[in-house]
Amino acid sequence: MKIYEKAPAKINLMLDVLHKRSDGYHEVEMIMTMVDLADRLEMSELPRDSIIISSQAGYIPLDEKNLAFQAARLIKERYNVRTGVYIHLDKKIPVAAGLAGGSSDAAAALRGLNRLWRLGIPDAELRELGAELGSDVPFCITGGTALASGRGEMLTPLPNPPQCWVILAKPPINVSTAEVYGRVRADQITVHPSARRMEEAIRNQSFASVCHELGNVLEDVTLKLHPEVQQLKDAMLRLGADGVLMSGSGPTVFGLVSKESKVARIYNGLRGFCKEVYAVRLLT
Ligand code: ATP
Repeated sequence: MKIYEKAPAKINLMLDVLHKRSDGYHEVEMIMTMVDLADRLEMSELPRDSIIISSQAGYIPLDEKNLAFQAARLIKERYNVRTGVYIHLDKKIPVAAGLAGGSSDAAAALRGLNRLWRLGIPDAELRELGAELGSDVPFCITGGTALASGRGEMLTPLPNPPQCWVILAKPPINVSTAEVYGRVRADQITVHPSARRMEEAIRNQSFASVCHELGNVLEDVTLKLHPEVQQLKDAMLRLGADGVLMSGSGPTVFGLVSKESKVARIYNGLRGFCKEVYAVRLLT
C-alpha cells in the first residue's frame, strides 16, 4: 500500500520573543498560518525493519538528520512497529527558508505513518510526539491558523485570516535559525508586535488590520546580518504588496496582496531580484 501526505509551508504573521528561559529555549508568541506551497510525501511499507528516505532535491540530508526519518524512527520505537518504511519527499518548499519545510515534512510523516500502520494515535498525542522533534512540528500536525506560545509547542487554534495572495521570495542566502535565536536579546527589544491585536484583526476578518499588525522581532537580527532581506522587503512594498514581513528567522520575505490584478506585477518585479519567488494562496 502507498499513501500520500501533503506538507504545507507556514508563515508567521507575528513573532515575538518574550524572554530566554532557564532551559535555553526562548519563550515566544507567534501567530502562524499555512500557505498553499507544499512538499508531498509518498510512503510505502517495507517488509524489513528499515527506514529509507529519497528525494529529488539534492540538497537535503537523506539519513537520520532528515526530520522525516526522525519522525519515522520515533513512531516505530514508541509503538513497537516491526516493519519498515520507504518515504519519498517531493520537495517544493525552499530549504532553510523560515517556512518550516523540515518540520512540516516531519508532521506529514507522523500523520501518514499513523495511517499506514493503522496505529490510531489521536492528534493530541501526535502533537506531543512532534514536540520531541522540533518546536514547529506540533503546529504542522494540525495546520490551520494558531497562536503558538511556550517554545512554540503550546497551541491555541484561531480562525483563518481573510483569504489573500501570498507572494514569497527567498533570497539566495543561508540563515541559521540557531544563530538568529542566539543573537536575540529579548531585554533590548523596544517594539513588540501584539498577538492580541493580530488575533483581533483575524477574528474581525479585517485584511487591512492583519497587514497593519504584521511584526517579527527576529527581523532586527537577520536584517542586520543580511541587508538584502531589507532590500527585498522594500522592493515588495514598492511593487504594491499590502503588507510585508520576514517569515520565522528568514530569509524568506512574504507579501500579502488582496487584489489579484497586482499579483503578476509584484511577482515579475521580484523575479529581477531573486530566483525563488512564489505566488500562492493562504491554505484556508
Ligand atoms: P524553520 O522555519 O522551522 O526554522 P526552516 O524553513 O528555516 O525551518 P528547514 O527547511 O526545515 O528550515 O531546514 C532546516 C535544516 O533542516 C536544513 O539545513 C536541512 O538540511 C535540515 N533538514 C532536515 N530534514 C529536512 C527536510 N525533510 N526538509 C528540509 N530540510 C531538512
